[in-house]
Formats: sequence, C-alpha cells, structure tokens
Amino acid sequence: MRRSLVIANWKMNGSVDFIDQWTNVFTTFSPVSTELAVCPPFVYIRYLQQKFLTSALDINVGAQDCSVHESGAFTGEVSAGMLADVKCPWVIVGHSERRQYHGETNEIVAAKAKIAIEHGLRPIVCVGETLEERESGRTSDVVIGQLNAVLDAIGPEALVTGAVAYEPVWAIGTGKTATPQQAQLVHAELRDSVESRDSQAASALRIIYGGSVKPSNAAELFACNDIDGGLVGGASLKAADFYAIAQAA
Ligand code: PGA
Repeated sequence: MRRSLVIANWKMNGSVDFIDQWTNVFTTFSPVSTELAVCPPFVYIRYLQQKFLTSALDINVGAQDCSVHESGAFTGEVSAGMLADVKCPWVIVGHSERRQYHGETNEIVAAKAKIAIEHGLRPIVCVGETLEERESGRTSDVVIGQLNAVLDAIGPEALVTGAVAYEPVWAIGTGKTATPQQAQLVHAELRDSVESRDSQAASALRIIYGGSVKPSNAAELFACNDIDGGLVGGASLKAADFYAIAQAA
C-alpha cells in the first residue's frame, strides 16, 4: 500500500503575511492521513518550517529546486547540502518551468536528483510532455526518456525515497487537466518502466499527478490505480483548496 502524497508548489508566490494567513486557515482543519509537503520559495523555507512547528501542523517543507554543484562560485544557487542543513527533506527537480525557462536538460535533472539523494533529500522528479509532443504521439517516449535519465543516475531504490510527478506541460497553470484516463495511462507506463528494473521499487514508488489539480477534479484523478496523489500549483495557494485536495487523496 502506498500512502498518498500531496505536495504544494507555491512557485514564486508568497510573503511572510501570506504564510501567516495560510497557516492560520490550515490549523482550523482536522488532520488528514495523506502525507503533505509545501514547497515555498527558498527564502521562506525556514519561516514556514517554524510556522508549521509552532502550529503543530504535520506538513513537511520542500524546496522547488537545487543546484547541481556542491558549493562555490555559483551566484544565486542553493545547494542540496544547504537544504539538508536546514532539514528541508523534499526537493522538486526537473519542473517543466525549470526545463523551459532555465534550459534544464534530462542530464541536468538527473544530476540534481543524484546530488539530492547524496545529501539524503527526497527528490520529486517531474516529467511531462508538451502539447506538441502529445499531438505528435511522442508522450511515452518523452516521459520515459525523462524518467530513465534519472533512473540511470540514481537507480530505482533511491527514487522510491522520493516521488515522480507526471505533469503534462499543457495542463500546468492552464486550467486544462489531463482526464483521469489520460493521466492513468501515463502513470502506468512510468510504473512499468520502473518495474522492468525493479518490481519492488515499482510497487512502492509514488507517482503523483500535477497540472491544474483542484478540489473539483482531485478525487477522480486520485481514484486511479497508479495515481498516488498530486503536485499542486495554483490551487495550493488557497489553504482551503489545498486541504480539500489533500482530503481527496
Ligand atoms: P498548477 O501547477 O497546479 O498551477 O497547474 C502545477 C505545477 O506546476 O506543479
């Protein structure tokens, strides 16, 4: 049995006031059995951790990215070692916005997953096809290629300590969600691909869906066999919506 996992990706949103309000709202809800994490911008990681701790909320904090480098002259970068140092357990790697706007290739994403694992972090490895790739029938090739690059670098057992997020690029922030059938098909392919290397890891691996997840579509997505939760962008900025999604998982 895989425990469901719902992760908030706040992207470049938030402030100290926003965190105070979000946390205040969230503390009014009763606990859920779903495992939860919130990934704020780097500067708010410590503040959010303290907020969750003092509010007795069982939510982990994660980062949205990490550097491929250990340390040194890389202005603006944050290393996996630093995230481990501040006890930030999760880190998103290979988000499509990083691939798109920062030129991150499969090799870079694999290197980030590797350095995250070396520092004891739990990588959330994002994969997903663009609309053009889907329409030209290349969805499987693209997502399996993205996954294999990471599997070659860290192996299936290490991947299980983290998670895979299937996020079709055309569904991110667009209001267009993949249908449960479309998503389930890709999730099953991703799991099969891990299965061909390690069947135990394949059944333990959590593969979560991302791309316009909201309270109104979460339950039917999460009801699919191979969808183990969600990576939630826009809807996670409203504490009540994030909670409703967590409840659906
Ligand atoms: P969205 O973003 O929920 O706003 O579509 C998801 C993501 O990019 O992780």
